[in-house]
Order: sequence, then structure tokens, then C-alpha cells
Amino acid sequence: MHEARTSSFDPAAPAPGEAAEALPGMDYWCRPGAATAFANVLTIDLEDWPIAVLGAHHEVTGRVVENTLRCLQVLRWHNVKATFFVLTKVAQRYGDLIREVHAAGHEIASHGHGHQLLTAITPRQFEDDVRRSIDILGELVGCRPLGYRAPGFSIVESTRWAGPILADLGFKYSSSVFPIRHRRYGIPGAPRQIHRWKNCRLIECPLAAYACLGRNLPVAGGGYFRLLPGAVARFAIHRINSRGIPAILYMHPYELDVDGIREHRLAGLNVGWWRRVTQGLFRDRMEGRLHRLLESSRFTTMRELLQDLI
Ligand SMILES: [Zn+2]
Repeated sequence: MHEARTSSFDPAAPAPGEAAEALPGMDYWCRPGAATAFANVLTIDLEDWPIAVLGAHHEVTGRVVENTLRCLQVLRWHNVKATFFVLTKVAQRYGDLIREVHAAGHEIASHGHGHQLLTAITPRQFEDDVRRSIDILGELVGCRPLGYRAPGFSIVESTRWAGPILADLGFKYSSSVFPIRHRRYGIPGAPRQIHRWKNCRLIECPLAAYACLGRNLPVAGGGYFRLLPGAVARFAIHRINSRGIPAILYMHPYELDVDGIREHRLAGLNVGWWRRVTQGLFRDRMEGRLHRLLESSRFTTMRELLQDLI
């Protein structure tokens, strides 16, 4: 049944790089010059490195616990609340960790269960995976997640069927669309600001992209944040805010794990040199960058940011 559905983003939304216009019911988010009126959101994909990067068939390792606790420590230091998109394969094994994140006042949202890319599964398999994650999170923290993030930002042109399924499952928002051009993910023509999907009530909170020379550039999350100078991300966030758009940033606990890749290799994982470079470079700088980022802007959870809309 879900195969027959088509979903798309609101065509009334401005194209990337255009001056932001008011969308029906969404004018607060699109008001130019309102930068100081709202906060940005730091989102954290709570997952373990092998399953997230090397493939969904990998087992969850204990490193995710230590890495997440380190994240919590940094957030506590700055008194910042974040939105954690939890992979429930991790939650199933380390339930106390998820309870600790929740008890610290952070938002618990869903990153699905098994980390299969939407481009590799059917709508039915997707629905089963997400349902499972809702059940696990509900059991652990006593409430349903309001938000969802697709593994590998895999809501792309061909997987837009996912929006109505998420709305039917009770989600209020998704933060799965990267409005950039990339080999594996992204919808380059998607709006950069928060908007509603056209044929369901789901709100989309796209990942921060900086419009420059007619292109949207990823600058404020994951590997981009780790590999580019920290000042680039802070400048981009400032520019995004100056157009009336909150910056939705993302990171993973494993990015703070300086010895992680070496330890995974010692434990028997086969990690090629290219991956070692792109995934491991500057991990030792990440924590310092995170501190400077959290000092430079105001942050809140996605639930708080959207409170008037959901
Ligand atoms: Zn992930």
C-alpha cells in the first residue's frame, strides 16, 4: 500500500539560496533577521561506529557507551540540551545508557533499529524497523519519540515514500533530508529551512547547509565539522541564522573516540586506509571544537524548537 504513495516537499517553499519566504503556518521559522530570536539544535546520532560506517551487519560494541558518556559530559559542562537520535540496536544492548541520556534532560528520538539505508529496503521493511524502534524506546524511557532520522540521511528523491509512513506512525518531525548534492545522499533542491511535507503532517528539519555560489555546502556536522576548521562552521551557522534559519547540526559520539578505529582494527575489523583517514583524521580536535561551538551559539532540543508546531 505504501508503495503507491508519493510524497514531496512543498513546492511553495523557496529554492535553496533564495530569500526565505513565509510558508503557511511556518512563518516564525522563515522570518529574515530573526536570528537572535531562536536557538540552533545540536543533534547526536547515538550509534556505534562499525554498524554506522562499515555496515548494518556489524555488532554493537561497548565503545558506544564510553563515547556517549563523554558527549554527555561536554553537554553538561555547557548546560546544553541536545536531541539524540538513538539507534535502538544500541538501546537494546545498553538500555541504561539511553535512560541516562534521557534523565539528563536530552530529547530521545529515533534513528530506527537496524541502520539499513532506506534505499536498500522496502517501505514495509522500513515500517517494521521503525515500529520496533518506537517500542524499544517507549519501554526504556516511557514515551514515544516525536522525531526520526533516517540512517545515512537516506531520505532522498527515491525514498520520499517514507514521510507518510512516519506520520502514520505518530512522528511529528523528521530530520533526514540533507539539502545538498552528494554521491550517497541529499536532495539538492529541498528547502534549507524547516518545512512541512506536502502530503502529510510531518515537519522536516533539514540539516544545516550554507548557500554559496548557487550551491548548498555541508559545513556543520559529522565529518565536515571534523575536517574543516572550526571557524568555518561557526561562520556558516552565523550566516544561516542571519537569514532567519535555525542551524540543525549533527555529530556522532564516536567522533570523540580518538583511539576508536585503532581499537576496532585490533579487535579484528578490516578498515581500509581511505576510511582510516577520512573517519579518523582530527578526531583529537573534535572535543575542543565542540566546546567552542557550544560556547558560540544558543542551543536547544528539536522538540523545544518546534514546540509551537507539534
Ligand atoms: Zn546513523
